[in-house]
Amino acid sequence: MPRCGRHAYNPVKGYCAACGWGRSKRIRRYSWQNKKVNKVRVR
Ligand SMILES: [Zn+2]
Repeated sequence: MPRCGRHAYNPVKGYCAACGWGRSKRIRRYSWQNKKVNKVRVR
């Protein structure tokens, strides 16, 4: 929630499952995923 707005932050693991916030500074994205982070399509 802090970065991408999705309620995907996992307080146990300490990072956001959607964008990887808290795990790395870069946005978590993979070639096989087609999600929208910050309402912007991440390719
Ligand atoms: Zn996130």
